Amino acid sequence: MAKRILAIDTTASLQDTLAGYLSSSEFLVAGAAGGDQARDILKTEHFDVVVAAHQLADMDGFALIEFIATQERRPSIILISDDDPMVRHKIRDHAMAYSVNLLATLSAPVDGELVKAALRDVASLGGGDAEGAQTSLAETEFMRGLMTDGLSPVFQPKINLRNGKVVGAEAFARWNAPGGGLLGAGAVIKVAREKGYMDVLTYRMLELALQQQGKWRREGKDVPLSINTSSENLRKADFADVVSGLAEQFGVDPSMVRLEVTEADFQVDERVPLENLALLHARGFGLSLDDFAAGFAPLMQLKVIPFDEIVVDRTFLVRAGEDGVAKIIFEAAIDLARKLKLSCTVEGVETETQLKMAKDMGADYAQGYFIGKPMSASEFLIWIEDYEDGVLVIPGLP
Ligand code: C2E
Ligand code: CA
Ligand code: CA
Repeated sequence: MAKRILAIDTTASLQDTLAGYLSSSEFLVAGAAGGDQARDILKTEHFDVVVAAHQLADMDGFALIEFIATQERRPSIILISDDDPMVRHKIRDHAMAYSVNLLATLSAPVDGELVKAALRDVASLGGGDAEGAQTSLAETEFMRGLMTDGLSPVFQPKINLRNGKVVGAEAFARWNAPGGGLLGAGAVIKVAREKGYMDVLTYRMLELALQQQGKWRREGKDVPLSINTSSENLRKADFADVVSGLAEQFGVDPSMVRLEVTEADFQVDERVPLENLALLHARGFGLSLDDFAAGFAPLMQLKVIPFDEIVVDRTFLVRAGEDGVAKIIFEAAIDLARKLKLSCTVEGVETETQLKMAKDMGADYAQGYFIGKPMSASEFLIWIEDYEDGVLVIPGLP
């Protein structure tokens, strides 16, 4: 069934523009001539998405979010504004505080490709009412957890194989289960994907990880962080601005942040993810191609995106011990990284033999249970101190 969109603008041009860009079999576009009219319409009719100019005389983006939050079935929002990244960032925070799904904040004049990219998630979501009613409780719980204390990042140390120094950490998502346990990233991500909250999850992880990084920094400990992203946020037109806004908010230098993407996250001909990554790189953020060699696409991706690092998929490390072909692929990946002047991290190092193999093959950095498991922020600091003081010795490292 076609999704319903309400375009709110003082002139009919936004409605016309959207109707021109979007296929009418997928989206039906109606219009409201301002905030008051939009409120009246939204009280009686359901829309899947509201696209609105942020600076309407009778309702700005903040007021719109607050109004949408009062609705039983909340449409997602796209805001059009010329504001600077900090205002956009505040709008996003506001939407999260009110549990409203902000798909994107876009600049005027509206770019059809960006609108389509922002709407992709909505078009791919199922729309059955019965199903919606069934999942709404769990969804509310999940959303509440995302905004409060449900999500907690853990940090896994990353080591320079040549000198044994800690070069930073990778943050992973964990979920505080009601009984006191921690749920793994796989389970959290599954729920977020099913409910269409992958973008919110990644945003929140970025926020929590950068907040922790800023805190460490103020305490005198600079910890470079790798943070995982997903296709859902790479496809959002404002992703680069959101990341920059968070780094600024927490006083984190972009050069201390590396964003990890996997080959499955995007195609090499997709404009929005490529623009986001190019923009982030230009602003000084590091980019890392995760799970390298797990599929076939990465070679083209290495050509079109300014990566700084590849992370070799751990399956090759595991198999390289016995399997000659796996070993050749592993060596080729490290060699390719060297020739392209990228650094190469080997993840999933579980034994001293694997650590030695990664080192002998010329990899730069390593992560894995053998070095350190993912830990809470406080455990991580203790781990670094013990390691740097020589209390904790990892066999095979200088
Ligand atoms: P990944 O980024 O490739 O992360 C590596 C996974 O291997 C992590 O699992 C890590 O805990 C685990 N690991 C680390 N050392 C070892 C080891 O020595 N042996 C083995 N067997 N595993 C090891 P985790 O935390 O369950 O995350 C799974 C995947 O979920 C990640 O794969 C990443 O793709 C995704 N993920 C995790 N956190 C986030 C997040 O905050 N945002 C997004 N978008 N994705 C995330
Ligand atoms: Ca990763
Ligand atoms: Ca990986």
